[in-house]
Amino acid sequence: MNIRRERLLKEMGLAPIWRLRMGNEQDDAAPREQAAEPEARPPQGREAKIARMDWNELKQAVADCRACRLCEQRKQAVLGVGDIRPDWLLVGEGPGAEEDEKGEPFVGQAGRLLDNMLAAIGLKRGRKVYIANAVKCRPPGNRTPEAEEMATCFPFLQRQIELLAPKLIVALGRPAAQTLLKSEVKIAAARGRLFDCQGAPLVVTYHPAYLLRNLPDKAKAWEDMCFARSTMRRLTQPA
Ligand code: SF4
Repeated sequence: MNIRRERLLKEMGLAPIWRLRMGNEQDDAAPREQAAEPEARPPQGREAKIARMDWNELKQAVADCRACRLCEQRKQAVLGVGDIRPDWLLVGEGPGAEEDEKGEPFVGQAGRLLDNMLAAIGLKRGRKVYIANAVKCRPPGNRTPEAEEMATCFPFLQRQIELLAPKLIVALGRPAAQTLLKSEVKIAAARGRLFDCQGAPLVVTYHPAYLLRNLPDKAKAWEDMCFARSTMRRLTQPA
């Protein structure tokens, strides 16, 4: 995180950036001050190769990937869609049937709701906004991706985040939040808080597909998007 952004977050009363810790704490969802972490080891093998990819190499590698069993029933891998110089990165769970068919995340009913959520805070898919998923291939029957599948796919998302360098990340739903924060997350407890993801502030909200089944929670998602918008404004306003 650059110094200016860190200073702005401090002024907003949002610093230090919070980060969930791995472990068996009583309330895994409660954000805690970032703990001193052991020195990171350099990634090995496949992970290291992905970490060096440029955008075109990443696209090709995802299209060709057979690293987990989600490749078996996909029509195509879905890397993501949108502005590759985004302010905003939204991350969902995984492609559904229509996404698998069209090669684009968040199409269909959940996608329309996401577009409405974006429009409500003055955003539009593709305009300073990039949309991706935690896994790039459709889980059969639209089941939740398994932890191992998300872990296998994570280096792609990690590299995407590095290359996109968004100013703010919105995790849509629990699987996306857990993948990005590498910890157990309860959306209800994590809402309205600011986390750190690879140096970018991250907020969580509900997945649009969940909101379609739980209409009363749409108001909470609206609050979350407003929180994200106000955070972005504070981050980008002139010093
Ligand atoms: Fe590869 Fe990710 Fe698709 Fe699994 S979900 S096959 S890791 S691109």
